[in-house]
Amino acid sequence: MGLLEDGYRAFGAIEGGTNDGSQSCEAVLQVTPVQGGALQTFMGSTSAQNGHAEIHALYQFLKTINYDVTSFRAHQLTIECLAKACCRHCAAILGLLRAAPTVRTFKEPRNRGVSYSVPPDVRGFLAKFLGTTTQKIIEELEGSGPKW
Ligand SMILES: [Zn+2]
Repeated sequence: MGLLEDGYRAFGAIEGGTNDGSQSCEAVLQVTPVQGGALQTFMGSTSAQNGHAEIHALYQFLKTINYDVTSFRAHQLTIECLAKACCRHCAAILGLLRAAPTVRTFKEPRNRGVSYSVPPDVRGFLAKFLGTTTQKIIEELEGSGPKW
């Protein structure tokens, strides 16, 4: 199995749930320090520059910790996406990062959009966090078409 499949399976959202579709495509990331401390909330939205809402929210959090893996591990992440199910790629990335979905957040093994990519800083962080190369992130977690 590759990173995409591993991450997708690891992400604890229920597959194939139905969202009401009435809300704009947004994601809410809640971050709690494991040692205790204030909860932080990051709102992500889908756009051409931002990519998918989930990754936009993640990106905002990563900036605040300067893409530091040790700081990242000191936090628990919870993601909520009510407008749409998380796509295959976002679900995989969230699963690899051990982010927990809220009850009404779903996933589906579909690609959304022509070609998937994440910001270079996020790609670099994923490579560091997973102990791999950015090339492998590009090959296994980005691009287009099903990989399993
Ligand atoms: Zn997505």
